[in-house]
Amino acid sequence: MRRRAMPAVSILSAFALLGLPAIFAAGQARTGRTLDIYVVDVEGGNATLFVAPSGESLLIDTGNGGAAAPRDAGRIVAAARDAGVTRIDHLVTTHWHGDHVGGLGEFATRMPIRHFIDHGPNVQPGPGIDEFLRDAYPKLYEKGTHTVAKPGDSIAVAGLDVRVVSSAGQVLATPLPGAGKPNPYCAAFKPTGNSAEDAQSVGTYVRYGQFRALHPGDLPTTKEFELMCPNSRIDAVDVLLGLHHGQDTSNSEVLVHAIRPRVAIMNNGTRKGGWPVVMKTLFSSPGLEDVWQIHFSLLGGQEYTVPGMFIANGVDDQPAALPIAPAPLPAGANAPPPPAHDGQAYWIKVSARDDGSFTVTNARNGFSKTYEPRSRDRR
Ligand SMILES: [Zn+2]
Ligand SMILES: [Zn+2]
Repeated sequence: MRRRAMPAVSILSAFALLGLPAIFAAGQARTGRTLDIYVVDVEGGNATLFVAPSGESLLIDTGNGGAAAPRDAGRIVAAARDAGVTRIDHLVTTHWHGDHVGGLGEFATRMPIRHFIDHGPNVQPGPGIDEFLRDAYPKLYEKGTHTVAKPGDSIAVAGLDVRVVSSAGQVLATPLPGAGKPNPYCAAFKPTGNSAEDAQSVGTYVRYGQFRALHPGDLPTTKEFELMCPNSRIDAVDVLLGLHHGQDTSNSEVLVHAIRPRVAIMNNGTRKGGWPVVMKTLFSSPGLEDVWQIHFSLLGGQEYTVPGMFIANGVDDQPAALPIAPAPLPAGANAPPPPAHDGQAYWIKVSARDDGSFTVTNARNGFSKTYEPRSRDRR
């Protein structure tokens, strides 16, 4: 990793030297026995907050921009407050799509960010994002540190093992410990469409004791294939996060079935992701126990959804009945806007213990389920 400034330890002592208010440091002093993961509802974008038992925080993406930025930034701040953190120690921006980086400018006005991690230059030019990357982003990271991630890099979060598995179109060359076996799903692989920036996604693997989670950003199937074929670079995980909102440009069997997640938590919107084909891939995945969805997806309908107790959010204007069949995919830019959900939003929270057990909680209805440690020899 190319780090430009101080390592974590000297930043901590710098707070002491500068005599910053004790309360600023005290928020980070939260210690616990669980790794807590908040999957925040940013309406079909991404914002996933990890808080280590040490109190250090890692945020992956900052939600949508434009008029949605205050809403999404506010929802991320609410999750951070719930976790007792007052700053973001590491921010991974997976790629330069508006549903992942759009909220950053707004979020940065509400919470300090120490370390900015990304894949490097934008490869899918657009007026809004190029302006942000030229004028605003450097001003944000010059107050902290900035790293252009490479596969294999570690992100220094005390108490966790955090590895970059993909970045800038490159994937991990050396298997993670325990991985490296031939992947039986490679033979039947069929690539799906690809967007240039999705393929640049910074993918992040997080291990806490026996617990493992993967957040591949919006990494498309072509890159899933490179990462997992012919030999898997990643072994079994407990929780699969992100899932590209549940769209078929990601979530091939070469990834999902080979890493055998026990739980998948999908960051879909009301009419983004949650696609039938992805639900089929998930529910036919060996060892899968539950899918949790950030939203009910109209594109899945009743046929391809999980029970409501596993769904964190609906729409503001809930109809009395929802169709069983999936709604047709919106075609192109002239599609009518999806149903609004600007009111109270709920996260899905994972609390993981170092023995590999973890509890998932739906903040809307309080439903939670504990998954006991998986015996290692069944992996
Ligand atoms: Zn996305
Ligand atoms: Zn994307």
